[in-house]
Amino acid sequence: MKDERAKKMHLFSSLVPRPSSFVFRRAIFFCALSAVFFQLASAFAEAQWKEERGDHFIVYYMNDAAKPKDILWKAEGYYNRIADDLGYPRYSNFWQWNNRAKIYVHPNKEAFQKSTGQPAWSHGMASYLNKSIHTIEGTPNFLDAVLPHEITHLIFRDFVGLEGQIPLWLDEGVAQWEEDAKRQMALQNMPMLVGQAKIFTLQKLNATDIRRETDQDKVAVFYLEAISIVDYLIHQYGSSRFTQFCRNLRDGKKFEESLRDAFGASVGSIDNLETLWIKYVMAKNTGDLS
Ligand SMILES: [Zn+2]
Repeated sequence: MKDERAKKMHLFSSLVPRPSSFVFRRAIFFCALSAVFFQLASAFAEAQWKEERGDHFIVYYMNDAAKPKDILWKAEGYYNRIADDLGYPRYSNFWQWNNRAKIYVHPNKEAFQKSTGQPAWSHGMASYLNKSIHTIEGTPNFLDAVLPHEITHLIFRDFVGLEGQIPLWLDEGVAQWEEDAKRQMALQNMPMLVGQAKIFTLQKLNATDIRRETDQDKVAVFYLEAISIVDYLIHQYGSSRFTQFCRNLRDGKKFEESLRDAFGASVGSIDNLETLWIKYVMAKNTGDLS
């Protein structure tokens, strides 16, 4: 069970570029995303949670210092924005009443680990089947980065489904695209990375399980590139065609067949997509490749 869950965990990093060199400082937080229905420890089940209820979320917390009203307000705002961004505006009744998503703010790391079985490095996780997000009170960047990231994972999988072979870069690219700071970082840095030939080919991106990579520069490129390609596809073709592409993958269509079906013949191969995406990136280039 633990091994299975570990396989499904997504690890990502918050990356801050330094001017005029490709060195990234890892500010770091972690995303542990699980499709497995994890068994809650008894301490979790018996805990005396306080609740803050909204239209689509219930925040469970222990201490007022967790700022549950702030979390709820932000979560509801992200819900609307992310659903719109991903092209689900008509699906207005999901996640209401008994289907509300649950956000658990554990009072400390020990309680979080005891309840969720997460490893020491983890500060947050999302569980698809429980439709829940777990974090630790006081986690840095929770409201602005971790929360939209995890909500995006849940909404995306709610619509696209749990089955199918969606490449890791696509799942993480969508979630990170919804983090404003990371999106800006990707847009600013991709022209430089393309110019310096630091990028993965799309073939390589599709085949890479970045969780096994130890070179931090490569990890950085992987995530920035994933965000940039998602940005290209959504801006250029619209969110509903992007979602169709993801659903094609879910339904078992091959990558290129999924591209052709959703975006048309001009994007119908991996090489074509790569060429078009690079053109898009360089068109946004400010000219500073140092
Ligand atoms: Zn993630």
